[in-house]
Amino acid sequence: MDNILDMTIRELGDLLKKRKISSVELTRFFLDRIKKYDSDLQSYLNITEGYALKMAEDADKRIDGGDNGIILGIPMGIKDIFCTRGIETTCASQILKGFVPPYDATVIQRLKANGYVHLGRLNMDEFAMGSSTENSSFQVTKNPWDIKRIPGGSSGGSAAAVAAGLCVASLGTDTGGSIRQPASLCGVVGLKPTYGRVSRYGLIAFASSLDQIGPITRNVSDCAGLLSIIAGHDPMDSTSIPEPVPDYTAYLGRDIKGMRIGIPQEYFIEGMEKDVKQAIEASIALLERNGASPVNISLPHTEYAVATYYIICTAEASSNLARYDGVKYGLRVDGKDIIDMYKKTRFRGFGREVKRRIILGTYVLSSGYYDAYYRKASKVRTLIRRDFENAFSQCDIMITPVSPTTAFMVGERMDDPLTMYLSDICTIPVNLAGLPAISLPCGFDHSNLPIGLQIIGRPLDEARILQVAYAFEKERGVKRIPDRYMQ
Ligand code: GLN
Repeated sequence: MDNILDMTIRELGDLLKKRKISSVELTRFFLDRIKKYDSDLQSYLNITEGYALKMAEDADKRIDGGDNGIILGIPMGIKDIFCTRGIETTCASQILKGFVPPYDATVIQRLKANGYVHLGRLNMDEFAMGSSTENSSFQVTKNPWDIKRIPGGSSGGSAAAVAAGLCVASLGTDTGGSIRQPASLCGVVGLKPTYGRVSRYGLIAFASSLDQIGPITRNVSDCAGLLSIIAGHDPMDSTSIPEPVPDYTAYLGRDIKGMRIGIPQEYFIEGMEKDVKQAIEASIALLERNGASPVNISLPHTEYAVATYYIICTAEASSNLARYDGVKYGLRVDGKDIIDMYKKTRFRGFGREVKRRIILGTYVLSSGYYDAYYRKASKVRTLIRRDFENAFSQCDIMITPVSPTTAFMVGERMDDPLTMYLSDICTIPVNLAGLPAISLPCGFDHSNLPIGLQIIGRPLDEARILQVAYAFEKERGVKRIPDRYMQ
C-alpha cells in the first residue's frame, strides 16, 4: 500500500476505477496514517471519520455507476477556513468555537459534486493571520522534515499533512503567501490563483481584496487537476472572473523552449540564506538547459510591499472581523449589557495577533489617518501592480524564491512580529498585484529542509505557470515523504 503515497490523483483514480482498491480502503489507509503520525505533527484540528467513510461509500457506488471525475473517492484534508455544512468550522479561533455553518462554500460544493472524501479540518493561524501556524488558538503544527520547526503558515496544517502523506491533497488560502510559504517550507506544491479565479463564497474572510483559494498537493499534476475543479465564475462572488476555465492538465508536458523567464533583482535580498539563493540559481540554470531564456528585470517598488500589505490587510481585517460580536456566531461571553457582552466576547475570543491587526486596521482607517495610511497604501499598491505590468512586457513568467529562509524553529519569531512580517517579502507583492503564482520544491538546504521556487505569471496565466512547473518537476523528480512517515 505504501506506494499509494507516490501516486498522482489520476493514478489513484485508475486504481479505483479498476477496483484494485476501494475508496473506503483508501480512506481507511489515510485515517490509519493520521492516527499513527498526527499526534506529534498536530496538523488536523479534527478528524471526521464517520463522515469520511460515508463519503467514501458513496464514491464507491458512483464509481460502479461509471462516474469518474478525477477526485471521485480521493481523501482530502481541508483548511479550517471554508464553511462546510454541518461540520464545525472555526478558522482556528476561539471566537468561532461551536460554529456549524448552515451552508457549503462554493469550493466545498465543487469538491462534493466531484465526489471527494473529507478526512477532517486542518490547522492554520487564527483567521489566516501568520506565517508559522503558531497563531492557531488550538495547537502548533510541526514541520514534517524537522519536528522542532514550524511548517509555515497560515495554511501550515494543510502543507504539513500533504507533505507527511496524511491526505492526498488539500486546499489552502493565500492572502500574502499562506499557500506558497508553507508549501515551500514543507516541500510540497502550492498554487495561488489569479485574484477572482476561484470563488471566495463561503471562505471566512481575512482581507477580501487579497484572499484567494488554491490547491496544496504533492505534485504539479494534482495541482492542475484540482485547480480545474475549483476555478471558475460564481454568481455568489461578484469578484469572481467570468472567463472560461481551461483544462490545466492539457498544458502539462508541453516544452518550454523560448520561454522568457524574468528574474527580478529586488527579490534577491540581503538576509536571504545562501542555500536558498544557490537552489534558485540552480533552478534557473535547469530551466535554461530546457530551452528557456532568463532575462533580468526590475520591480522597483518591491521594498514598499510589506508596509503596504500590512495597512491594507489590517484595514480589511478590522472591518471583516467586526461581525464576531457574540450575537450570530460561535462564542458568547455574557456581560452586564450588550456593549459589555461584545467587549468580553471579543476580548476572550480573539488571540493576540488578531487583536493586534484589528487595532492596527482600525487606526489606519480612522478619520484623521485614512489619507495618510489607507489611501496612500492603495496608491502604492497601484504602483506595485504597474511594476509587474511593465516587467511582463519583457518576460513570460518570473522566477523568485518563495521565502528567504527555510523553516525556522518553533517559538523563534513569536516575540518579533516584524521579522515574521518581513519574511513574506517575496510572496506579498504577488497578492497586491492579484497575480497567480506557484511554489514548487526545488531543493534542500544543508539541514535537509526543503526550499521552494516561486513561478509568477500574468493574470489568468495559470496554465503557463503549470506548464513550466511540470517541466521543472519532470527533470528534478518528485520528492518522497520524509523517512519518519514511511516507517
Ligand atoms: N503571513 C501573512 C500574514 O500574516 C500572510 C497570511 C496569509 O496569506 N493568509 O498576513
